Amino acid sequence: MRHETPFDDDKLHEECGVFGVFGHPDAAALTALGLHALQHRGQEAAGIVSQDGKQFMSERRLGLVGDNFSREDVIRRLAGERAIGHTRYSTTGDTILRNVQPLFADLAEGGFAVAHNGNLTNAQALRHELVKRGSIFQSTSDTETIVHLIATSGFGRLTDRMIHALKQVEGAYSLVALTPDAMIGVRDPLGVRPLSLGKLENAWILASETCALDIIGADFVRDLDPGEMVVIRETGVETLRPFPAQSHRFCIFEYVYFARPDSYMEGSSVYEARKRIGMELARESHADADIVIPVPDSGTPAAIGYASEAGIPFELGIIRNHYVGRTFIEPTDNIRHLGVKLKHNANRALLEGKRVILVDDSIVRGTTSVKIVNMVREAGATEVHMRIASPPTTHSCFYGVDTPERSKLLASRMSVADMAKHIGVDSLAFISIDGLYRAMREPGRNSQQPQYCDACFTGDYPTTLTDHEDEATGNQLSLLTESV
Ligand code: AMP
Repeated sequence: MRHETPFDDDKLHEECGVFGVFGHPDAAALTALGLHALQHRGQEAAGIVSQDGKQFMSERRLGLVGDNFSREDVIRRLAGERAIGHTRYSTTGDTILRNVQPLFADLAEGGFAVAHNGNLTNAQALRHELVKRGSIFQSTSDTETIVHLIATSGFGRLTDRMIHALKQVEGAYSLVALTPDAMIGVRDPLGVRPLSLGKLENAWILASETCALDIIGADFVRDLDPGEMVVIRETGVETLRPFPAQSHRFCIFEYVYFARPDSYMEGSSVYEARKRIGMELARESHADADIVIPVPDSGTPAAIGYASEAGIPFELGIIRNHYVGRTFIEPTDNIRHLGVKLKHNANRALLEGKRVILVDDSIVRGTTSVKIVNMVREAGATEVHMRIASPPTTHSCFYGVDTPERSKLLASRMSVADMAKHIGVDSLAFISIDGLYRAMREPGRNSQQPQYCDACFTGDYPTTLTDHEDEATGNQLSLLTESV
């Protein structure tokens, strides 16, 4: 087994979902259900920490939520009316249990558990300083940096120490934390990752996405504002806005791919947004064809929008096997290839002799597109026109969406024309960045002050990238870094 040190150069990019319940007798069971609804945000590991007014209990497991948190004895061990949970995916070869969240620490004020969605961009720099000053890290996760900053902060109350710690970090974070008397939710000042507040009877709920409120029948109360911290106690909810105001930069890729289509984000239905992206795409890049088919499931809402706008029939030309996880989540290139074959099959009866418009949400490495186009041609399609419901993915994400390093992104290496040849299509078009913004009901992208974080499409990163400057520009890494 590979020896892992805190400064190993293997990167841990995380995709995550967070969830919390305060004030319900079935807090842990509800958290398990909430995490199940957030499973698409991370499939490698999951954890729940509960609190019964006296002590904290923790269960952290590798694998899916349903496989680990559906047993009664596990849930029974997680006693108490308060619980937080986390579901996680990281690209590192060996996921280690000590990285699985929620992280837990015994601080001077008592126990502190925290679950983090997002990535910090200066965690390594901070970590070097903390280690020099004597901090002993237990995990390789950037989230632990926050815990150490809180532990070593000289400020009084735990919330003040947490604020002091968060003022030192850069990057993206939506956090759900549990302290001896409170559940805390906080979003970074840019609001890159989502976090919603809900209510179930007398209990308060925090969730990455509203689909996780739906699964337990909770009411949506509101999204936390960027830079907002809510402190939920038995006495009620206190709202703090401790950070200097900044213009918001919510992740536009949540709408394109990452979030579940039945969620609402920042007041917009993800499904409706995807349909509008497809409609905009049809307006921008028409093709004469007999049918519009999606790459399921990620391309489906955009393909519906495309078909309705173009007036071309929408058909299911590719059938997806739902018993295979997301292909992208597979750890090696070989398995990823195999995964695509396992996951999709062409609907021959439909495709034979047809001119096809194939719609997908994004091209990352290009592996999926090559396989799918080949499959559609082998099934008898006479022309294949590929339409992508996002601009070319040219840059890596350092804020919590797993993207490979820049050199592996097809669009960072090739022009659209070369990509079309590589994928084997008759034509290829991506939605323009302004088209994407129009689909989000903006007049276009404001280049002086972009309304979203769109760094994966533009390279315009909204924070400094202390730990990643070389990667962002595509240069060789000079430092050993491990981003989580
Ligand atoms: P690729 O084969 O690398 O081009 O992968 C593209 C496919 O992966 C698209 O069809 C997307 O639906 C999906 N995808 C895009 N970004 C991600 C991500 N960050 N995590 C998992 N899947 C993704």
